[in-house]
Amino acid sequence: MSARILIVDDLEANRRLLEAKLTGEYYDVLMAQRGEEAVQTAKRERPDLILLDVMMPGGIDGYEACRRIKAQPETGHIPVIILTTLDDRDNKLRGLKAGAEEFLTKPIDDVQLMARVKNLLTLKVVIDELRAREANGKRLGVIEEDLHPDPLDQHRVFSGNVLLIDDNQNQIKRIEAALGVEHRVTLLNGGENVGAPDLAIVSVTAKSFDGFRVIARMRSGEPTRHLPILAIVDSDDRQRALRALELGAHDIIVRPLDEEEVLARARTLMRRKRYMDALRARLDQSLELAITDQLTGLYNRRFLHGQLGPLVQRAQCGGDTVSVMTIDIDHFKHLNDSFGHDVGDAVLREFAVRLASNVRPSDFACRMGGEEFVVIMPRTGGDIACLAAERLRRQICASPFSAPGVQHPIDVTVSIGVACLAGPDDAVDAVLKRADEALYEAKRAGRNRVVGKAAPEAA
Ligand SMILES: [Mg+2]
Repeated sequence: MSARILIVDDLEANRRLLEAKLTGEYYDVLMAQRGEEAVQTAKRERPDLILLDVMMPGGIDGYEACRRIKAQPETGHIPVIILTTLDDRDNKLRGLKAGAEEFLTKPIDDVQLMARVKNLLTLKVVIDELRAREANGKRLGVIEEDLHPDPLDQHRVFSGNVLLIDDNQNQIKRIEAALGVEHRVTLLNGGENVGAPDLAIVSVTAKSFDGFRVIARMRSGEPTRHLPILAIVDSDDRQRALRALELGAHDIIVRPLDEEEVLARARTLMRRKRYMDALRARLDQSLELAITDQLTGLYNRRFLHGQLGPLVQRAQCGGDTVSVMTIDIDHFKHLNDSFGHDVGDAVLREFAVRLASNVRPSDFACRMGGEEFVVIMPRTGGDIACLAAERLRRQICASPFSAPGVQHPIDVTVSIGVACLAGPDDAVDAVLKRADEALYEAKRAGRNRVVGKAAPEAA
């Protein structure tokens, strides 16, 4: 997996060393020498990962740079690994509290570094995909606001369900003491019956079960696939730490456990899970549901407005023109009044099926509400659009509609107005308005007909 990694260190020798290691693994490397520069470069270049030195002369240090990177909406999702020679508890905690995903001590262990880098980048790919889909949703107009409150907010404390899988009684007590204030901790001996946790803490030093197997099973099982896993390892057992990361643990913590470190790592992991959950949930509810009309399964008004704007813009910038037809089912109110709303709905659904099967795959058929429909026809001039509208009109009146509970099939006709984008000064609203006017003319002229207004009338 190729990715762009930003290296931040005030010493040239350190930068070169890391650059050599990372380019050797085919990563692209960017570099910065100061804290401010790191924040700016991150914002401008949007790297996939940041390796951040702590001690830098002048201006802001690595902790502050990390805080600022994590506080910006454009860069808050980029994973940060803090690098330092100060291997003491306070510095480690400061790094984690500044929002860093990981903390490595110089001299950097190559294998550890690469395992961490690979692990964080895998996660970043998922976040990027979700963010891209969200941006798409915003462009289409089906997602309106930014995520709020922002789950990446460092100051927000989330309470969550922690699943603890361990057999060491002292350790269990310490973890419960560390996390119990903020979270609900459930003990599990061996990894069965996973409910809906927000974090799993798995000991790979346990005697009574195989922690690696638990991690592997969680990573491959559907309900726990996205669950963050924090693995507990012995401080000198580098092999087991790497194995846990390889199997899919997101983070490791070494024994003897530091309660504040447990809490800080749990917070970071859960914050990221909340962020990804929120992105997924928004996409699920918005992208499918929000652009679909529930009764007919056609696109809805919201989708139409999100789609038509960009098409018109493209046409105005020299692209192909766009036509729209507005369609109204004739005497629909009368039909509703005489047969009831269930029959009315059945007619709308049947009409939607005929409409959808009559337009081209590149057209967008939308229900605007009631008995009013709009078809967007990209790359289509007014003449072709009028022909398509006429074909649809004939198709509707050619065979009557059947509806449940009605003995005789119902004759249905439609009136259609057609308008086409008329040059670089034309606007979305103006095109829709002309199509509406054409539709009104079709109604006035006796219904069951097509009227085309390909260009605005001369002033
Ligand atoms: Mg330094």
